[in-house]
Amino acid sequence: MKEPIIEVKELTKQYKINRKHFWAKDTFVKAVNHISLQLYSGETFGLVGESGCGKSTTGQVILQLIKQTSGKIIYKGEDVSQFSAKRLKNWRREVQIVFQDPYSSLNPKKTIQWTLNEPLEIHNIGTKESRKALIIKTLEDVGLDANYLNRMPHELSGGQRQRVAIASAIILNPEFIVIDEGVSALDVSVQAQILNLLKELQKKYQLTYLFISHDLNVIQYFCDRIAVMYLGEIVEVVKTDEVGLMPQHPYAQALFSSIPHMNDDDQKKVVLKGDILSPNELQSGCAFQTRCPLAMEVCKQEKPELKSIAENHVVSCHLKEEESYENRCAI
Ligand code: ADP
Ligand code: MG
Repeated sequence: MKEPIIEVKELTKQYKINRKHFWAKDTFVKAVNHISLQLYSGETFGLVGESGCGKSTTGQVILQLIKQTSGKIIYKGEDVSQFSAKRLKNWRREVQIVFQDPYSSLNPKKTIQWTLNEPLEIHNIGTKESRKALIIKTLEDVGLDANYLNRMPHELSGGQRQRVAIASAIILNPEFIVIDEGVSALDVSVQAQILNLLKELQKKYQLTYLFISHDLNVIQYFCDRIAVMYLGEIVEVVKTDEVGLMPQHPYAQALFSSIPHMNDDDQKKVVLKGDILSPNELQSGCAFQTRCPLAMEVCKQEKPELKSIAENHVVSCHLKEEESYENRCAI
């Protein structure tokens, strides 16, 4: 078995919420709750789930843009919290992020050349001339050219801006990129172009992607494996293959049953009822218990563990321990 490039171990992130009164106790929101993942070199690993379930927090903690409350991030076998300042600076070249809205990640007052030159300057790479050549080559890599050097972000279309954001992520020759809702703000036709570009770049530069999205169609089309998140927890990790996705967790099934083309005669659309718990409300049992159409008594008492049910397939659901489960998969 290959060594993972990124390993997430029992990662937890709690945000402190502002106190209403100075005498009130501090309260915390559990954005990410004891998650563990392995990402392998060259794969596109998807993270999907409803808004607020903890996807962006996970991506940002993996890159150490925010600090975890507990748990570990292991990069190629090394615990990143043990990195020296020098190693950390070098590591920042190896891992990058692309956000949903390039308008906020590109400086509106600076030219594209300035934006792409900045990381090279920070890391002291090359001479003025060699930097310019590298910037032009990288622009060409993302389907733009030297004509864009002196343009300002507002002169570009949304797709072109996202190409510049991608150029800025790849210019330091990284190995791992978090793409957080990277195509969510784009029109469908532009989305397809950017996804194709990302695939090309992945092949050309052997990149590993953590692809975060709430868009099931995109994530299913683009990713090799998908982790489904619910209320700060991973409920399923499943491989995508020719036959399409076969999610087993009731939440994952409901989520993916809402995609129109998967909604054939055998698989009815599942509409979830019940209230979503806030991350702090859950006292015991499964986080999905209030909305699960198949919830049992045990689901209120005991938290299900992530268990392997097949190669490349783990699920956390008490139903998996029930004999009749296989017959009731298509809920
Ligand atoms: P997603 O990307 O899946 O939409 P996030 O990771 O952004 O989810 O957020 C997860 C949870 O953490 C949400 O409940 C959100 O309100 C909360 N949260 C995110 N960032 C902060 C923050 N800086 N301070 C307090 N709470 C936050
Ligand atoms: Mg997000």
